[in-house]
Amino acid sequence: MHSTTDRPRARRPRIPHVPILSLDACGGGRGGALPSLLDGADVRLVTSGRIAIGLALRALGVGAGDVVLVPAYHSPSMIPPAHWCGAEVAFYRVLPDTAPDLADIEAKLGSGRVKAIIATHFFGIPHDLAPLRALCDRHGIGLVEDCAHAFFGARDGVPVGSTGDYAIGSTMKFFPVYEGGCLVSRRHRLDVALRGASAGFEMKAALNALEAAFAHGRLPVLRVLLALPLRLKGALWNAVKARGESAGTAAGAPTAALAPSSSDSSFEFDPRWTDKRSSRFSRAVLRLSSPTRIVARRRRNYAELQRALDGAPGCRPLFPRLPDGACPWMFPLLVDRPQAVAEALQRAGVPMTRFGATLWPGVDASVCANSADLGRRLIAFPCHQALTDAERAWLHAQVRQALEACAAVPA
Ligand SMILES: *Cc1c(COP(=O)(O)O)cnc(C)c1O
Repeated sequence: MHSTTDRPRARRPRIPHVPILSLDACGGGRGGALPSLLDGADVRLVTSGRIAIGLALRALGVGAGDVVLVPAYHSPSMIPPAHWCGAEVAFYRVLPDTAPDLADIEAKLGSGRVKAIIATHFFGIPHDLAPLRALCDRHGIGLVEDCAHAFFGARDGVPVGSTGDYAIGSTMKFFPVYEGGCLVSRRHRLDVALRGASAGFEMKAALNALEAAFAHGRLPVLRVLLALPLRLKGALWNAVKARGESAGTAAGAPTAALAPSSSDSSFEFDPRWTDKRSSRFSRAVLRLSSPTRIVARRRRNYAELQRALDGAPGCRPLFPRLPDGACPWMFPLLVDRPQAVAEALQRAGVPMTRFGATLWPGVDASVCANSADLGRRLIAFPCHQALTDAERAWLHAQVRQALEACAAVPA
């Protein structure tokens, strides 16, 4: 399965869709920020969030014959990790605000085969997972807290990632990195050994993060300095790959790709990356980034976009207000005429994510009407920390214009 709806990078938008490097990306202090997924937990930095889901399920002992419950509103990348463990997946309903439907979950425990439940803090707005935690404890079921959209945050003083047996994060959604995910636990010691990937992977992780920044006019001096090495990159990679291939052939083993497909707008799960550490480059960016700056900017950008769209026709924000403890991934808007608006925005080069537009085959309105409705009507816009003042002003104007133009045309 290959789609660009979850993290579309195929078409280059006019402004950065995801965080990119800039001169001020590092620095800005660490005080006063919301809790981070990495605080006070046993942590393993891997190459994607989905790999972390696979490792979390494995740590819970999920195997053949087991069922993993996944929200009917989801990223299709969440499903193959369960299959990798040998388990089947069943889908539970979500409420209109994406919260887990506890009554539906309870009804689905009847089979006695459910071994683990995945719960997601969609768009970075933390749910109260205490009732689900209690349900899991009563039934002896493992809880995986999917913080792919919530690297930072707390609700009622409870940090994201602290309620699940294991929690996972997707670093690519919050930091200017090309690959990265994390498996964390505040409740169990992690028995997961990782090793570094190839030199080619290390190089690709660094150069692709830099190239994404250059593509949007960031780091111009570095761009000039790296012009030649970047032109040689293709040749270098081929050399590295050729070396890996000959070594692989000698050992009779297949060669892993230079980087996981999770970094290229795909929903695939590649088991060859389950024991690989995130690149040195990504780990350095994580270490040097200021949580204070990331959280403050994302919250400001989200609130600003909400104000800019106040009173715009044919839409409403999924969440009426941004809770104090939330650090948003994107700004989710429910749109009355999503197809027309999305087409207008695409023509204008506006980056957007139609999260849930592609659901796992078979998950339709008969499984969960709310998920189908969210998948059809929701358009999410970037509010990440790398957007400049001018880029945000442009985004606000474009979105408002598209909504007004589509509302003016009779259906
Ligand atoms: C993106 C995403 C994942 C997987 O993260 P990757 O880093 O892309 O593998 C898991 N869950 C949700 C809800 C996501 O949006």
